[in-house]
Amino acid sequence: MEIKAAVVREKKAKFKIEGISLDTTLRANEVLVKVVATGLCHTDLTIRDGLIVPFPTPSVLGHEGAGIVEQVGTAVTKVKKGDHVVLGPSSCGECEQCISGHPSYCTNMMQLTFSGRRTDGSCPYHDHSGSDVSGLFFGQSSFANYSLTNERNVVKVRKDVPLEILGPLGCGFQTGAGSVLNLMKAGAGESIVIIGVGSVGLAGLMAAKAAGCTTIVAVDIHDSRLELAKQLGATHTINSKTHKISETIQKEIMPGGLHYALDTTGRNEIITEALNSLRPLGHCVLVIVSTEKLEINGMSLMGKTISFGLEGDSLPDVFIPRLIDLYKGGLFPFDKLIKFYDFEDINKAVEDSEKELPLKQYCECLSDHMDF
Ligand SMILES: [Zn+2]
Ligand SMILES: [Zn+2]
Repeated sequence: MEIKAAVVREKKAKFKIEGISLDTTLRANEVLVKVVATGLCHTDLTIRDGLIVPFPTPSVLGHEGAGIVEQVGTAVTKVKKGDHVVLGPSSCGECEQCISGHPSYCTNMMQLTFSGRRTDGSCPYHDHSGSDVSGLFFGQSSFANYSLTNERNVVKVRKDVPLEILGPLGCGFQTGAGSVLNLMKAGAGESIVIIGVGSVGLAGLMAAKAAGCTTIVAVDIHDSRLELAKQLGATHTINSKTHKISETIQKEIMPGGLHYALDTTGRNEIITEALNSLRPLGHCVLVIVSTEKLEINGMSLMGKTISFGLEGDSLPDVFIPRLIDLYKGGLFPFDKLIKFYDFEDINKAVEDSEKELPLKQYCECLSDHMDF
């Protein structure tokens, strides 16, 4: 079938809306989804620019899609035509991590996410000249009006929430919220600092509030973002341009330190500050790491845990519906972080997000959406 996709023709090029063909002779476990909206995440842009992992061009990116099931392969039992779904990351379902309920760390994740082809090597996307177009990015390539995906990528969701806001639950929002609820297991009466309150940090912040944390410190270098953090439940804010994070926490907010720290910057000096803000036995979760060597003063680790979590260590089929229930209950108002763009304006959405969060400084997921 002919679909409309935002194609990356070459490394660092702008997205180009094109008609391309998608082979809809589904394999047994595949699902065809009519995409209603998709989030734009910085991972899309880093891959477009040829950073981190190569993804062969021409290509269709996008990995925060939500839509309606259009067609299912013969072995698919999880969903049927007409179901509302959020598209989550790829995992194999067979390795030890998948079987034990931690598909974010799937052994086969790299191949399933970044090969641009099916596991049998075939390419279901072609342009008008007949050339292969890499698809199945994160198993979904949702920068298109249709997505060919796998049964394991789809999460069935309730129909009484607007589908167009749900896409980022599949990556950015589940990363932030999962870090707090699944990895830290933050609970009532506990304390946390969130460093960097972009959409991932704010999702973590809302999750901390929903979990009953009573001291929630938001840190950023932009006052406007700190203001939003306050509205969403931060009890304290620190502008780290003018105030040292750990000193402010240890002297003015909670002498002895906090229970948890969520770092969304991946920067050495900030991670050290996060660790110094914790009490012994505290847990610091990183959602991004940089290519520079992580250097930590051993003393700042005393009795503490530091971990790098992917996708909030979530089991998407369980966790995404749970986040939607929290949203319906007024406890996870993630819709406040979403801005809509027409699909044709995808390059404008990229421009705006880069203006707000220069790639070099931050490398986290964004909530900017393109509405199809
Ligand atoms: Zn696996
Ligand atoms: Zn992402």
